[in-house]
Amino acid sequence: MNVDTGNPASNSTRREYNAASATITHPREPPPPYSVSDTGVVNQQPIIHQTIIVQAPLKDTPMFYNCPKCDERVFTKVEYVSSKNTHMLAGFICGLTLWCMLCCLAAIPYYVSTFKKVQHYCPNCNTLLGTY
Ligand SMILES: [Zn+2]
Repeated sequence: MNVDTGNPASNSTRREYNAASATITHPREPPPPYSVSDTGVVNQQPIIHQTIIVQAPLKDTPMFYNCPKCDERVFTKVEYVSSKNTHMLAGFICGLTLWCMLCCLAAIPYYVSTFKKVQHYCPNCNTLLGTY
């Protein structure tokens, strides 16, 4: 760090340095030539086109989906599977209807697909694509 101490000797040194740097002339060089090949064609970077497929979120019904394994757009095959929530809902209904002997209503979640987990499969390679 250059601190001005007020010393005349250091000031004169700086002045000489400034004077010396002012006299230096920078010869102007021509800019570098453009990148031109021998055939006269300007070199360009190759343009890479990349297709990005955004998958739609899964639903509770069959839908079009891109299978990553067979790399095709397929109409998914769905299976409804009882999940932990299905069992919990059945137990809750059973607890509510136990006093009036209507415990058989607890079987409703196992027959209604709305209360089940939906698994989407590829119809070609049978790969599990996702779960809703
Ligand atoms: Zn597939």
